[in-house]
Amino acid sequence: MSAPNVVGLASAAYIVAALLFVASLAGLSRHETAKSGNTFGMIGMGLALIATVGLVLRSVDDTGGSTPLAVVLILVPMVAGGAVGVWRALRVEMTGMPQLIAMLHSFVGLAAVLVGYSSWLEPLENGAVHLVEVFLGVFIGAVTLTGSVVAFLKLSARIPSKPLMLPARHLMNLVALIVTVALLVWFVTSDGSAAALLLMTAIALVFGWHLVASIGGGDMPVVVSMLNSYSGWAAAAAGFMLGNDLLIVTGALVGSSGAYLSYIMCQAMNRSFVSVIAGGFGSGAVASSDDTDYGEHRETSAADVADLLREASSVVITPGYGMAVAQAQYPVADLTRRLRERGIDVRFGIHPVAGRLPGHMNVLLAEAKVPYDIVLEMDEVNDDFPATDVVLVIGANDTVNPAAAEDPTSPIAGMPVLQVWNAKDVVVFKRSMAAGYAGVQNPLFFRENSQMLFGDAKERVEDIIKAL
Ligand code: NDP
Repeated sequence: MSAPNVVGLASAAYIVAALLFVASLAGLSRHETAKSGNTFGMIGMGLALIATVGLVLRSVDDTGGSTPLAVVLILVPMVAGGAVGVWRALRVEMTGMPQLIAMLHSFVGLAAVLVGYSSWLEPLENGAVHLVEVFLGVFIGAVTLTGSVVAFLKLSARIPSKPLMLPARHLMNLVALIVTVALLVWFVTSDGSAAALLLMTAIALVFGWHLVASIGGGDMPVVVSMLNSYSGWAAAAAGFMLGNDLLIVTGALVGSSGAYLSYIMCQAMNRSFVSVIAGGFGSGAVASSDDTDYGEHRETSAADVADLLREASSVVITPGYGMAVAQAQYPVADLTRRLRERGIDVRFGIHPVAGRLPGHMNVLLAEAKVPYDIVLEMDEVNDDFPATDVVLVIGANDTVNPAAAEDPTSPIAGMPVLQVWNAKDVVVFKRSMAAGYAGVQNPLFFRENSQMLFGDAKERVEDIIKAL
């Protein structure tokens, strides 16, 4: 194949891939089109990979390098990485997705750091601009790397989700940023000082770790989408360093969509974007609720809940992370179908941060074939609770916690929640009286109209179906 052909074909493939990525994002924004969105993304990425390998082999050929050696050097890590990726993706449980994604973000960060260093080692072509690219790429990459590792540890419960509250933490973050700017000036004016680069890398690694460590459990959704955004910018920075247009475009798409998702999450949780990314600003509220005596809770049985449901004319189900853990979506879908057959109005109320991933509950319910039209957003259902006979809280906790609305000292104060307590009867499915992800007790469990149905959510829902 002649030289212009490979370059021309690769450019055309890049344009098609970029368009497919845009189509993929558009598809992913709605349930009905999410599958085709994924397919577009996969085809785009496949095309991008083939085109990039073609370009690399072409340049190896041009510079008189050994093409077979280059093929081996590309194929071995690609096959090994691909195999690990497929293996993890096949094995991961739905509940393990958030931490897997956090881990993958950390790889993007690491890749940006490595690309930055390798590009710094190469002879500089366009001086100051290239140095700024290297510096920013390594900085964003290093922050993404350690931030994502901490997010991985928190999401997989390997470390507590409580925020780390170092004294003078905001001052430390500010000093780190000022020193980084000074190091950038030093790096550029010294024509790429190794000391400046190394020092900045160390600061960025600590900065990323501290930023995520100081964010509390309840605010983790914003952090996950924010790290998604950072990983996009890290990839875009790598694209600048490598002079790869598609990487720049793809990184910018991921970066900006992640930033927008973070903004939506902040709005949903009534948090200021700046305060969350500044590392737990305003999370000074203390969990006063921990030692509060809320009185006695009331226990119920599957048979009693079945009786309650038989009498009901309107039911709202509010699922949470526990439904994902128990994999209870299938019996929940079955119960829904049976109740609807009896003429009972059944709907779902979904909190925007229920579960551990944006859209987590929607994915599970879609998987179990619950009709989309009865799955409502929090805002669509909140006003209907006073007219609802029974609410089934299936493995949800923080997202139905009245303390968020009523206790200004609560760490989740101000976060809008599903106001299930306004319904006539509330049944809470969980295994114990343990707190939710944010680590705060839930006064809902002690309300007069609340009853606890203890045990694994899947088993309990199946018991109810039997009793019906
Ligand atoms: P929570 O995480 O607050 O609570 C889940 C509840 O499920 C627990 O109290 C647990 O109680 C119960 N549970 C666990 N396993 C089972 C089981 N097998 N059967 C029955 N119950 C079970 O859930 P929510 O969905 O209400 O809230 C999500 C939380 O996660 C929020 O704080 C949110 O900020 C955070 N988060 C959300 C992310 C997102 O993107 N959506 C990302 C990161 C964090 P017990 O142990 O007693 O059974």
